[in-house]
Amino acid sequence: MAPSKSQILIVGGGNAALCAALAAREGGVDVTVLERAPLDESGGNSRFTAGAFRCAYSGVEDLRELMPDLSDDEVAVTDFDTYTEDQFFDDMFRVTNYRCDPDLVECLVRQSMSTLLWMRDKGVRFMPIYGRQAFKVDGKFKFWGGLTVESVGGGPGLVDSLTEACLSRGIDIQYDARVVELAFDGKNVTGVVVRRGGERPETVSADAVVLACGGFEANPEWRTRYLGPGWELARVRGTRFNTGDGIRMALNLGAAAYGNWSGCHAVGWDRNAPEFGDLAVGDQFQKHSYPFGIMVNAHGRRFVDEGADFRNYTYVRYGVEIMKQPGQFAWQIFDAKTAHLLRDEYRIRQVTRVAADSLEDLIGQLDDVNSDACLEEIRTYNKAVRTDTPFNPNVKDGRCTAGLPIDKSNWANTLDEPPFEAYAVTCGITFTFGGLRINTDAQVLDSDLRPIPGLYAAGELVGGLFYNNYPGGAGLMSGSVFGKIAGTSAARGSA
Ligand SMILES: Cc1cc2nc3c(=O)[nH]c(=O)nc-3n(C[C@H](O)[C@H](O)[C@H](O)COP(=O)(O)OP(=O)(O)OC[C@H]3O[C@@H](n4cnc5c(N)ncnc54)[C@H](O)[C@@H]3O)c2cc1C
Repeated sequence: MAPSKSQILIVGGGNAALCAALAAREGGVDVTVLERAPLDESGGNSRFTAGAFRCAYSGVEDLRELMPDLSDDEVAVTDFDTYTEDQFFDDMFRVTNYRCDPDLVECLVRQSMSTLLWMRDKGVRFMPIYGRQAFKVDGKFKFWGGLTVESVGGGPGLVDSLTEACLSRGIDIQYDARVVELAFDGKNVTGVVVRRGGERPETVSADAVVLACGGFEANPEWRTRYLGPGWELARVRGTRFNTGDGIRMALNLGAAAYGNWSGCHAVGWDRNAPEFGDLAVGDQFQKHSYPFGIMVNAHGRRFVDEGADFRNYTYVRYGVEIMKQPGQFAWQIFDAKTAHLLRDEYRIRQVTRVAADSLEDLIGQLDDVNSDACLEEIRTYNKAVRTDTPFNPNVKDGRCTAGLPIDKSNWANTLDEPPFEAYAVTCGITFTFGGLRINTDAQVLDSDLRPIPGLYAAGELVGGLFYNNYPGGAGLMSGSVFGKIAGTSAARGSA
């Protein structure tokens, strides 16, 4: 009788899980994906994304290899610049204040492009992010901020193509299947306990288990416990199913906690957005064009340097700053000079927006804001703008304010040209930074820093990569890189 094939269980149904499943299958083992969500809500946070991936490339030829659909005409009118491995390393170290785990970052950066090429070979298609990451100047698109590539069809396109790739390779995907415990014989992980469709839990044996079931952002009790008081009030930008199950199950076995447990990715999010993400709206509740205007709080005061850096490097910190403001909200204010630069997300129907032909009228309409103080703040701000430096949205233009308690370092424009517009935002949490400790084979380590045999992890629930801040597009990239490593290692380890 032929020996039966090894069995690998993947817990989760997002990008990290599906990449892990594909890599494990490539290793010649049987693979089952257990996804907690029902089919119509499956795909985790990955489905809610715009599909932006941060990857290293040395020039347009690398991008043409990844995106064979890129036409000569598109290349002729685009300056893609470079985003080298060194630039990616610099960004990871800089935005995390040099706290990120260098070994994990090395995997993330050096395997970014090769992992995307591997995904392309599995059927995922990519394209340049013209709409969000490039401005047209003198007839040419110029990319900025190191974020150039997105999956065709955004997050839904990504999850659908990965799902199709899994199904066509004989991977079994079970929906409405919540893993509630890991089976453990005291030394090895031997399977999982799963509850399907609310039925009684059942134990399923496996040679290895990959945890790829997200952070704890949708768990208000853990948010308050680890991120701090007030975080139960945040809106959840994505899936309601990432409640920290994977982290809890592994910690129960003695896994090491790692990373920035009191930190998270959070952004400015429409003040009236629902409790959890809405797949019909996707990530369009976010409001990321604040570098071209100002943000004020309930006291009518600015509270951050809106132009400190490209928005990819500030939007996460500023989501957290909005959380700290009285009433957990802010208004973003723009005038006619920059309104045409606002991203598509400002033009959706479900937006909390006011507009007026005079500043006085506009400020009077800002709910819960001290109008007199706000007008005073804007007058002082206008006087401080250094108009002698030209405004250029594609580079850090150095057009700043001078002499304010919080200066604006780039893209400062006076607010004086009607019509005026303002948008109300609150804090939307994306994902949590703290999680499990893995090695470069994606094995979960115990608190003695020894691998727990049979247990691997990838994606959001891995700690050690992001601290305080995060460079946009690194979440999906990390899920793919470590998903692929985890699947490969799990198949190899169980052979
Ligand atoms: C609105 C929004 C926009 C974003 N945009 C981007 C972007 O453009 N680029 C980028 O890089 N990142 C983006 N992110 C972050 C990105 O979504 C995450 O970093 C990434 O998708 C995480 O992938 P993952 O596979 O680890 O988790 P997820 O995709 O969240 O998958 C986790 C899965 O685990 C399942 N699950 C949970 N508990 C259990 C259980 N007990 N048993 C079984 N299954 C379970 C869930 O149902 C889910 O399917 C965005 C996030 C949001 C919310």
